[in-house]
Amino acid sequence: MRKYESLLARIEALESQLSESLTTHKEQASEMVSHMQNIEKRIDEVAAEVQSINSGMKKHVKKLNTQLQLVEKKALRIQQQPYLSYFVLNILDHCNLNCIGCDHFAPLAQERFVALEDIKSDLQQMSLLTKGKVGRIGIMGGEPLLHPNLPEILPVARKAFPETIIQVVSNGLLLLKQTDEFWNICKKHDITIVVTKYPLNLDHDKMLETANAWQVKFQFKGNTGTAQKTSCKAPLDIEGLQDPKQSFWNCYHVNTCPFVMEGKIYPCTIAPNIDLFNQKFGTSLNLEEGDYLDIYRVKDYRVLLAFLSTPKPFCRYCRTKDRTFGHPWERSKQDVGEWI
Ligand code: SF4
Ligand code: SF4
Repeated sequence: MRKYESLLARIEALESQLSESLTTHKEQASEMVSHMQNIEKRIDEVAAEVQSINSGMKKHVKKLNTQLQLVEKKALRIQQQPYLSYFVLNILDHCNLNCIGCDHFAPLAQERFVALEDIKSDLQQMSLLTKGKVGRIGIMGGEPLLHPNLPEILPVARKAFPETIIQVVSNGLLLLKQTDEFWNICKKHDITIVVTKYPLNLDHDKMLETANAWQVKFQFKGNTGTAQKTSCKAPLDIEGLQDPKQSFWNCYHVNTCPFVMEGKIYPCTIAPNIDLFNQKFGTSLNLEEGDYLDIYRVKDYRVLLAFLSTPKPFCRYCRTKDRTFGHPWERSKQDVGEWI
């Protein structure tokens, strides 16, 4: 009996020990679960931080890539070109449309045509100098269809540049009034008509139909049939306090629209037409000899190409970093604010 009681006591003691031990283990297990939960929470937090760093890095890398592409684009632009891919042949100053902020200053111009003899001579000289190796010529002004000698200019241009794309770049206002002679000449001399689509009540479809009927190459500027013209603002610094190199570096004109008029070539449309601005507003933005090249003096095509790829003194007047794009098109009010 005593032995039984002793065994019972022993069992009770063991039960009590077991119960204590179970309680302790439960507590430890609960602590461990809570610890694990904390660790999981921290892992989630760290993962979120890593994700946010990653997406920040991605944005940063994207931004850097965009900046790099811009720098590459600018570097390419100011690199000396292997040949002239394009030049503007300016045949008159004035225009029948007068767009706000026109970067040829046409709304400020009096009627003035470049003389036919000068145009012929410049075409022949440019042909000699470049050996005819020019990708494309844009005949413009002002509005080129206003020039009374355009039918004589086009054959001369084709003779001087047999392989080049020759375009008449027009606002289209007078296109449907052109004579059969004009269309015949365009066809015969493989001239392309390029029309900028201004938001005016013009029959652009009819222009295309007419050109097609005459089998004359035709396109809307920007090679699109739908885009409507907007304006850009290219403000000037009348004091001329800009860094010419920086202005040139940021200038979209560079190597995209060299401009030929009356024996000279310029890197852009702004410098050669600045006298129109000066006359209208009484300013004195000064054009120097280093701002253009005399095409009758230069003997080597490479000299001309190098000239077009280096900053000019006149660039100090251009606030190229402040240029803005995509403004709704309007007619000019001949207000100085359109250009400064
Ligand atoms: S159509 Fe407009 S942008 Fe073109 S030359 Fe005339 S005024 Fe200037
Ligand atoms: S003057 Fe220089 S910066 Fe100004 S438009 Fe001409 S090339 Fe560009």
